Amino acid sequence: MIDPFDHIKKNLDILVVAHRYGIEVYRNHKALCIFHNDHHESMSFKNNRFKCFSCGVGGSSIDLVQKLFSLEPLQAVKKINVDFGLDLDLKTDYKPDIGKMQEIERERQLMRVFDHWCDKIYSEYAQIARFYWMNIQEYKPINEEDAMHPLYIDAVHQWDAINYILDILLKGTSDEKTILYKDLNSFEVMTG
Ligand SMILES: [Zn+2]
Repeated sequence: MIDPFDHIKKNLDILVVAHRYGIEVYRNHKALCIFHNDHHESMSFKNNRFKCFSCGVGGSSIDLVQKLFSLEPLQAVKKINVDFGLDLDLKTDYKPDIGKMQEIERERQLMRVFDHWCDKIYSEYAQIARFYWMNIQEYKPINEEDAMHPLYIDAVHQWDAINYILDILLKGTSDEKTILYKDLNSFEVMTG
């Protein structure tokens, strides 16, 4: 009888497993790690194993599924067996907690949407910051007695707020980002 653990590790491509559960692996066999807030594709795939060089998680495709769905090793093997139609002969019955798994997948999906939102807002505000920076340079009063250009005044007024937002998006905790998300969205609703 074949050892199902062995069989999966040897014969099931971990890239296929990763893809099936929503991890986007790029051509260089790297991916954004989903086990920490990753911005640099710290997770890499090699010899049918994965490893995150930032947060340290790693292992076989079974370890990956275990971590993804908070499963015991045997439960992970059974899930893989079902999801990939491997038809391995496993002694005990597998009763997956579908509700829990769906919840985990949903949360992960939400995290991805939220991360995309953060990236999008960051590039928008970075653009706005550049615009104001240019106005500050361009319309800066040359002599003290010169009247200040309205674009200069506006830019100076906005500067701190814009950079505060960029700071949070770049270095903030997920709580800070969530508050920012709510703030910005209620602001958009208010201004229509
Ligand atoms: Zn990681």
